[in-house]
Amino acid sequence: MNKKIIFIVCDGLGDRPVNSLGGKTPLEAAKTPNLDLLAEKGITGLIDVIDKSIYPDSDIAHLALFGLTPEQSKIERGPIEALGIGMDLGKEDVAFRCNFATVNEKMEIIDRRAGRIDGTEPLVKALNGIEVQGIKFLAAKGTGHRLILVMKGKGLSGNVSSNDPKAIGVKSPEVKALDASDEANLSAGALNEFLAKAREILSAHPFNKKREMKGLLPANYLLCRHGGKIALIPSMKQRFGVNSACIAGAGLYKGIGRLLGMRLIEVKGATGLPDSDLNAKIFTAIKALKEFDFVFVHIKAADSLGEDGNAEGKKKFIEKIDKAMAPLVSLKGSLVVVTADHCTPCELKKHSSDPVPVLVSCEGAEANGVKRFSEKDCSKGSLGRIRGIELMPLLMRLASKR
Ligand code: ZN
Repeated sequence: MNKKIIFIVCDGLGDRPVNSLGGKTPLEAAKTPNLDLLAEKGITGLIDVIDKSIYPDSDIAHLALFGLTPEQSKIERGPIEALGIGMDLGKEDVAFRCNFATVNEKMEIIDRRAGRIDGTEPLVKALNGIEVQGIKFLAAKGTGHRLILVMKGKGLSGNVSSNDPKAIGVKSPEVKALDASDEANLSAGALNEFLAKAREILSAHPFNKKREMKGLLPANYLLCRHGGKIALIPSMKQRFGVNSACIAGAGLYKGIGRLLGMRLIEVKGATGLPDSDLNAKIFTAIKALKEFDFVFVHIKAADSLGEDGNAEGKKKFIEKIDKAMAPLVSLKGSLVVVTADHCTPCELKKHSSDPVPVLVSCEGAEANGVKRFSEKDCSKGSLGRIRGIELMPLLMRLASKR
């Protein structure tokens, strides 16, 4: 490889025309002089990240951008996030992604996120290390109201249902085995027993009593989903021969990096939220190019703002991304890739299967006539419309050219 690659995924960047932005998408409405220059200097196109009309979850979409089909990358979010927050998973362990939630005496959900609680360290500590039916439950804090739960023991299975009804005012159902195996039955039974114990501990915890006195919702229950075991997925080194690094704020993306054998580089101020220090992330990524062939940078908040339907906020955040990109315009000897894992249209408030824009900026590329980085402009780019899994082989070819 003659060139190194800096690979920036702006989560949920793509969108659809929004009335309040004069019929433009947030990316079109935003002032993005640096992204536009990068698009002009390189090649652009559109990517169907997984395939046309397939609903893209962020994990599978990222793995597709890194060259893996959904069949090659079968793994649940629980184990990915457990890796992302630094937990070590054995082959037999089952990890879940959980919310701290609020339920009433009838076990009906009052709030699925306990008032978007944070600072839950004392609660996590109280739950960590509990043993039920010979199975040890390890708990670790995730972002905000999230918690990662790992079951350690013999004969476990992740094939159990979630107790998250994804609605409020309804009862949280018991966890059930999703197949007839002893493993699934044992796991469901032990998890239900743990959850009942957790409810007792959380309800009586002084941290929650204090919250209730202040009129805040107590985090008195756990909602668990996306349970599963670790999967063996070939690393970036094995598949493409690159030494790679990952810079991300949120746990899921750090987990994807670890799963693919990337070295995690922590950046102070990288939060995965709109306040994230993007300048520090890009600065660190440029420095990391000295040591690594491939540096993945994940930028989260455009997705969350799209899910909130906040078009103006998404536009402003895109302008913040653009400012952070300034040092990349004059970067020599490396490919700069900017794309998204999926669109998150503000009008839908969720992911969509629309294609995402991509730019690959490289010295010496023939001008492709595109002068702006937007969904519409990239549709006219010389890269055309490709599938997510085609991107990595294409980058490898571009990086190898002298
Ligand atoms: Zn995403």
